[in-house]
Amino acid sequence: MESGKPVVSMEGVTLTYAGDRTPVLESITLKVAERELLAVIGPNGSGKTTILKGLLGLLKPISGTIEVLGKSPKEACKGVGYLPQKSRFDPAFPITVFDVVLTGCYRGLFKRYTCEDREKTVEVLRRVGMYELRDRRVGLLSGGQAQRVFLARAIVKGPELLLLDEPTASIDPDMQKSFYELLAELKKKMAIVLVTHDIGAISVYVDTVACVNRTLFYHGSTEGIDNLDELYNCPVDIISHGVPHRVFSEHGGSAAVENGAKGRTGHDCGLHSSGTDTGGKTGSNGKRARDV
Ligand code: ADP
Repeated sequence: MESGKPVVSMEGVTLTYAGDRTPVLESITLKVAERELLAVIGPNGSGKTTILKGLLGLLKPISGTIEVLGKSPKEACKGVGYLPQKSRFDPAFPITVFDVVLTGCYRGLFKRYTCEDREKTVEVLRRVGMYELRDRRVGLLSGGQAQRVFLARAIVKGPELLLLDEPTASIDPDMQKSFYELLAELKKKMAIVLVTHDIGAISVYVDTVACVNRTLFYHGSTEGIDNLDELYNCPVDIISHGVPHRVFSEHGGSAAVENGAKGRTGHDCGLHSSGTDTGGKTGSNGKRARDV
């Protein structure tokens, strides 16, 4: 997506964790425009979450520059909504859907929630389809419903940029579809950066894709991701049972997607589409998918 002012601009960014000599990400250049939905894909441990930490200002680059909404990530944080991979939440904690979303308006100790905060909470609950369940305890919700609530909390302040880390990892296929449909609605008002393994959803709902594995292999339209073998430098197989999806094998080795699952020796790319249980099932091409 070329049009629109850049919401995210990363130029030659290298990110390292304190004490580590080897950078997790090296010379990443990435741009995200207004109302763009970018999916960041890559094997486990490839640095997807680390990109989000850079955009949130939690990790400072050792070289290169990061701008979010035209400012430094720290300055821009008020305009950024974030849904972490695992929303830490004790299901026994007696808090309602409404109150969880309201916490997204938190401004600090001794600052009360305002009427406007409550109005925004109602508005956003309607938007994500959870208003009817506003008085229910969050611990009693399904995974998909709970994820909508946490999404509502991330957007209640009306961010210009929404960062989502594996948002559909623990929700069922029907809920995943409606979750992505919801994102398609949300992106009319904000840019979205989504870290995911769910490559099945990518072609349908996503504008652009960045393939990451320590560095950036590809950044562009979803049509360009057909050659994932080259981009990932590992064999990629496409298996179809029910919903077409791709299974990635270990990097740097021979194809592990063959009759009988092989053990894991390299990265677990772990990409799969919604609606498919790949563990030990046989695909239409007669090959057997690893447990991804
Ligand atoms: P992904 O999201 O693609 O699974 P991450 O960005 O979480 O990958 O991690 C990339 C690499 O950085 C991994 O090798 C991981 O072990 C390392 N890493 C992640 N968080 C930390 C941390 N807090 N301290 C040190 N290393 C980390």
